[in-house]
Amino acid sequence: MMDLSFFIIPALDFVGTPVLAGTFLVLLWLQARHPLRHPSFSLSPLRRIVRNLVFAAPAFVVLRLALVPIPLAAAVWAAQHDFGLLHRLPLHPVLTGALGIILFDYAYYWWHIATHRSPLLWRFHNVHHTDLDMDVSTATRFHAGELLLSVVWRTVLVLLTGIGPLALIVFEIIFECAGQFHHSNWRLPLGIERVLQKLFVTPRMHGIHHSIVLRETNSNWGTIFSLWDRLHHSQRIDVSQDAITIGVPAYRDETELTLGKLLLLPFRKQRPWQLPNGEVPEREPQPMNELSA
Ligand SMILES: [Zn+2]
Repeated sequence: MMDLSFFIIPALDFVGTPVLAGTFLVLLWLQARHPLRHPSFSLSPLRRIVRNLVFAAPAFVVLRLALVPIPLAAAVWAAQHDFGLLHRLPLHPVLTGALGIILFDYAYYWWHIATHRSPLLWRFHNVHHTDLDMDVSTATRFHAGELLLSVVWRTVLVLLTGIGPLALIVFEIIFECAGQFHHSNWRLPLGIERVLQKLFVTPRMHGIHHSIVLRETNSNWGTIFSLWDRLHHSQRIDVSQDAITIGVPAYRDETELTLGKLLLLPFRKQRPWQLPNGEVPEREPQPMNELSA
């Protein structure tokens, strides 16, 4: 097992990184050719994307130096000691790996809810939601603090499930690609997205999660599979993308969303979920049960 772990980090660097960078570039191109929502940010789309990527730099460091290697070390240890739920199941290793990935996605459904419900976690996750437009670069806009806090959670999860090191790395790559996909501003043909959404979290679905209407934000928590939201009745697909205002109502001023201010935002007093004029954005549930244009 030590030999295997020896190959896994290079596998992430030499396979995962090009896959993620390639996915990012393809989605960047697709969303430029077929945009879904109109931009509201006054910065040019390119400057906004660069700002998100620069902001993400510390998070990338945390990802590479802590969020991946620490749970990975736990996965190697769990494999060596037959520790965790999956080691109890007499399944083919490929099936065990697939089950581990599905379990992890389900666990992240709950982690995402926790990042909204826990006042401490929200301080950090808020930064991600303050983007005034949403596109593939929003998938990188995470405060390093949020990723650092998730190291503990992910390590505990590895030990509980006993997910193998290779499955963990495959999960990481799929998870990141799924995040890029559903944050992207790519207007998929509606018929195709409706079919895809039966299984996966899609751009229109996640766009509703980034709405300034709280009831809409409190829905669509999934990352890879849409199944969990359907299972727990937290799926909302009744809002047209044209009707959505992306962001957090109390943080609408671009001058407050510069790099330095975003880094400090978790350590400042958090504002209530209302517009600067005190109004709370509302929208009645729409009589739709399908994703709309
Ligand atoms: Zn969220």
